[in-house]
Amino acid sequence: MNILLFGKGGQVGWELQRSLSVLGTVTALDFDSTDHCGDFANPSGVADTVRALRPDVIVNAAAHTAVDKAETEPDLARTLNATTPGAIALEAAKLGAWMVHYSTDYVFDGSGSRPWVETDTPAPLSVYGRTKRESEQRIAESGAKHLILRTSWVYAARGGNFAKTMLRLAQERDRLTVIDDQWGAPTGADLLADVTAHALRQLQQRPQDAGLYHCVAAGETNWNEYAKYVIARAQLMQSAINIIAKEVAPVPTSAFPTPAVRPHNSRLNTGKLQATFGLKMPHWQAGVARMLAEIL
Ligand code: NDP
Repeated sequence: MNILLFGKGGQVGWELQRSLSVLGTVTALDFDSTDHCGDFANPSGVADTVRALRPDVIVNAAAHTAVDKAETEPDLARTLNATTPGAIALEAAKLGAWMVHYSTDYVFDGSGSRPWVETDTPAPLSVYGRTKRESEQRIAESGAKHLILRTSWVYAARGGNFAKTMLRLAQERDRLTVIDDQWGAPTGADLLADVTAHALRQLQQRPQDAGLYHCVAAGETNWNEYAKYVIARAQLMQSAINIIAKEVAPVPTSAFPTPAVRPHNSRLNTGKLQATFGLKMPHWQAGVARMLAEIL
């Protein structure tokens, strides 16, 4: 199997380089790759790359993920998140190739408290959410065989992440304030990459399982509880760590106004994914603990 991976240097892209390697030959590109265009600001250049390499599978981990910045550069966000993925999907359809793509809980408006299912109606609140929703629609309408995994609160050991920020602040300040009214599940880039490889393997035998799935770790939390878990777990793992924070105070989202509006309810129901692909999603705390073991 020839696999073309876009966005190889991102959180998920990096883990995909590992997980996809057992499925075939992986050509991994970034926005500044020189042999072939991997720059999503250039939709026709990326389409040329697909035509030139004729892969069996295209996995797209590239995106404009700076949610707040997207509010002030909506055209670039749309090109990166929707136009180029749409162009890839059209090429995939012509080739008969599979396309794998990632989307987000931000396609929903965050109302209620029930975990969203795939058939719920999206109503994005932000430029990022709208452009990611558009990517889902373009891919679905392209006629390409596809797998779209909607996920949330992605973290990885590599690069910056929420847990690292909380650990740093907890060693600098005696009191942290973290919002407690946005609910979801922190999901490891490694888990997403492993699920992708597993699903791709099954899809070769069962193409009828193509489509849109919610893919997040099990359980639910809010950012305040997440921060507390990270700090407590880090202290347990490494007693030498000098945590001075005595309190992680809960505050509402309104205490930290941001350009992009975030959904309060980001819970995603993974029943369809688990039933279709014979998977059991691990609890979010297991993945975060593992990431902490890697970074501490
Ligand atoms: P990252 O931001 O870690 O990775 C995105 C990648 O896209 C980076 O390597 C980035 O490069 C690259 N990129 C940026 N601009 C361009 C460009 N012009 N051309 C090509 N590549 C470019 O994101 P994640 O790995 O976390 O996200 C993977 C997928 O998951 C995305 O589709 C995202 O929308 C989705 N998702 C992510 C969530 C999260 O919390 N992070 C939540 C829900 C869904 P560089 O770093 O150099 O800018």
